[in-house]
Amino acid sequence: MFIDNGLSDIFRPEQVLTDQSSLEKYGQDWSQVGAPNPLAIVFPESTEQVQSLVKLANKAPFSLVPSGGRTGLSGGAMATNQEVVVSFERMNKVLDFNKVDRQVHCQAGVITQQLQTLAADNQLFYPVDFASSGSSHIGGNIATNAGGIKVVRYGLTRNWVAGLTVVTGSGEILDLNHGLVKNATGYDLRHLFIGSEGTLGFITEATMQLTNPPKNLSVMVLGISDVASIMKTFQALKKNIEPTALELFSSDSVKIVCEHKGIPRPFDTEAPYYLLIEFENDSEATESLVLETFERCSNEGWVLDGVMSQSEQQAKTLWRLREDISESISHYSPYKNDLAVKVSKIPVFLERLDQLVEEHYPKFQVLWYGHIGDGNLHLNILKPADMEHDVFVEACNKVNPLVFKLVKDLDGSISAEHGVGTLKRDYLAYSRSDSEIAYMQSLKAMFDPNGIMNPGKLFK
Ligand SMILES: Cc1cc2nc3c(=O)[nH]c(=O)nc-3n(C[C@H](O)[C@H](O)[C@H](O)COP(=O)(O)OP(=O)(O)OC[C@H]3O[C@@H](n4cnc5c(N)ncnc54)[C@H](O)[C@@H]3O)c2cc1C
Repeated sequence: MFIDNGLSDIFRPEQVLTDQSSLEKYGQDWSQVGAPNPLAIVFPESTEQVQSLVKLANKAPFSLVPSGGRTGLSGGAMATNQEVVVSFERMNKVLDFNKVDRQVHCQAGVITQQLQTLAADNQLFYPVDFASSGSSHIGGNIATNAGGIKVVRYGLTRNWVAGLTVVTGSGEILDLNHGLVKNATGYDLRHLFIGSEGTLGFITEATMQLTNPPKNLSVMVLGISDVASIMKTFQALKKNIEPTALELFSSDSVKIVCEHKGIPRPFDTEAPYYLLIEFENDSEATESLVLETFERCSNEGWVLDGVMSQSEQQAKTLWRLREDISESISHYSPYKNDLAVKVSKIPVFLERLDQLVEEHYPKFQVLWYGHIGDGNLHLNILKPADMEHDVFVEACNKVNPLVFKLVKDLDGSISAEHGVGTLKRDYLAYSRSDSEIAYMQSLKAMFDPNGIMNPGKLFK
């Protein structure tokens, strides 16, 4: 049995699973691309155990797939080819909290929401947040450089990683940056591991930076008349306030969320697009400025209607209009694209993408939403109920090159925050030059000379 193939020297029997239902569960992520087919699932409890496993895998040899909360949307944690899945579920401990440095040292399997709660309990704030925070791991967030709804103010996960412990694909333990704010001593390898999608090695521990919490958050949802008005309203708002979140979603998204989740519509007026703005409502002057901006945008005809939260509960309900979209549309097996351009290019991007979608997806329902404050839009094509899944995916795949060519023409990204994994792997050249890809492959070969780390992800 496989467990005798060296694994029993490293793990206790209860740290290894090989039953069919576990293989299926841990062999796939939220993207569900491909059929899960791992050899075994292991649950290490320490960095040293991970190191022993990597050394064994290099000799055996077998491949390893790092597995966090499996909420990834690019197939990065899929194990379809007899790999050993390395789940961080049992490396879920907070090891230290330092009030002076405002840093948390934790294992990679700590759930994102757990870190947010720990910060809040200490009157601090961990700002990386998104709909899957209740399941995703800090290790997975770092491996994908996760973004989410607060990037417009606080940036990506990368900004909050003060230190990392990693086990490279060749089995070395590296302690990177030690939580330092300043450290000008050459290449910062920490940043190489952030966003590397488990292709260079394992992230086993992290030191995460916390900050002051925002005060008196208010949420406003505005109904917008057309694409051109989105940007005009966006600019008017940004001129007057520094939002903590600035999100866009289309009317169909609102319809589906309200139907599926039983949430009330934000207001009766129908609008083709909606903007959600969260901001620190810290004084009467701020509130007046926001209301004045709203009035101006309404007078210009950009904004059709709007609502501002009057309580924390109402703010939460308004947020659900945006946060619950992903889950609500999962019933329609959506084909997802996660695209980014510079904010200044959003109008031309939206206009050209709209034409492309109308021309090539006339039979499909297409849903827009995204983090417009940082130039990131999610394009979701919903599968018609009577269409076979494979036929649907093939039809969407045919249009991909056109969408990605448009992104490339605008110097954008074909994967803003979901990573490359297997789903975007064949399209990497739309966002990275041949030389860049060659450098990335050389780096992979250096850290993972036998190619045991997450094979087939990011590159072929
Ligand atoms: C409803 C929903 C909403 C989402 N919204 C957002 C959003 O707004 N913004 C955003 O950025 N993402 C979003 N995501 C995607 C996803 O939640 C993120 O990519 C998240 O960071 C993945 O974390 P995870 O722990 O689930 O990682 P997994 O899915 O388990 O793994 C992701 C990748 O990281 C690797 N990995 C995992 N753990 C480690 C480790 N310890 N060491 C090395 N490599 C590792 C895996 O091999 C894989 O390649 C959303 C997903 C869902 C389902």
